[in-house]
Amino acid sequence: MSDCIFCKIAAGEIPCRKVYEDGDLLAFHDINPVAPVHFMIIPKEHIARLDEAHARHEWLLGRMLLLAPMLAKEQGLGHGFRTVINTGPGGGQEVYHLHMHIFGGESADYRPHRL
Ligand code: AMP
Ligand code: ZN
Repeated sequence: MSDCIFCKIAAGEIPCRKVYEDGDLLAFHDINPVAPVHFMIIPKEHIARLDEAHARHEWLLGRMLLLAPMLAKEQGLGHGFRTVINTGPGGGQEVYHLHMHIFGGESADYRPHRL
């Protein structure tokens, strides 16, 4: 998708603060963090939103979930973290390239809360 900002990040055309990269996945820090640590995991393949993923993406989606705790621990979130996937206008999605937010940490003005 030529006009997708996360595709451009995945292609190296727009810089990011990279957390992790392999052939299928990329993780980078959110530009506007809501917590002391806030990064996201994206598939390099353009999937616009979670409800457009197919059965053939099962392995990719599983890898995203399994990668989250590994990277969270590396980023100092061994105590725990939140994961969020916003889907569609009803879910407040702003960037239409599937991404999983991972965030947490401790600071005076951040508290994890109920959904
Ligand atoms: P949402 O689609 O609602 O899950 O939110 C999209 C997220 O992408 C927001 O938290 C933004 O701060 C983040 N974001 C947008 N552009 C960039 C960028 N160039 N680099 C890193 N994060 C970004
Ligand atoms: Zn994309």
